[in-house]
Amino acid sequence: MTVYTGGCQCGAIRFRVEGEFSHSSICHCRMCQKAFGGYYAPLVSVRGADFKWTRGKRKTFRSSNFVERGFCGDCGTPLTYEAPDGMAIAAGAFDDPALLPPTIQYGIEGKLPFTDKLHELPGMRTQDDVENAPFISEIVSYQHPDHDTTEWPEERK
Ligand SMILES: [Zn+2]
Ligand SMILES: [Zn+2]
Repeated sequence: MTVYTGGCQCGAIRFRVEGEFSHSSICHCRMCQKAFGGYYAPLVSVRGADFKWTRGKRKTFRSSNFVERGFCGDCGTPLTYEAPDGMAIAAGAFDDPALLPPTIQYGIEGKLPFTDKLHELPGMRTQDDVENAPFISEIVSYQHPDHDTTEWPEERK
């Protein structure tokens, strides 16, 4: 049985899913753009899988008469799309999003016109920008690591 874990950036909320996923998608609709603060929402349906919250309790915002959007009340990470036919989890909140590639696009009527050309933009690695932003070379992440922890936050030295 495959086990997937994930959570928000501050670590207050963690989840665990066992089983196979029905599908992984991106949604371009305007409501999802707004809910994620993104060009589109990457969502993995956990319908039919064994899903558990293992730490903390998400907050929800009712974004329509049928749908609630879950997020961490401490750090704001978007976490869920909860509809009458099931729940989907924000793909980037999984500890290893590369394991869950999207297979379909929804809401394409809302697709931002440049979205299909993003891969054509010039690209830079984070460390390539050190000249313009010297602090980058000394960055220490305070985000929760990409695996379960028994205690969090760890004591900072
Ligand atoms: Zn959080
Ligand atoms: Zn949507």
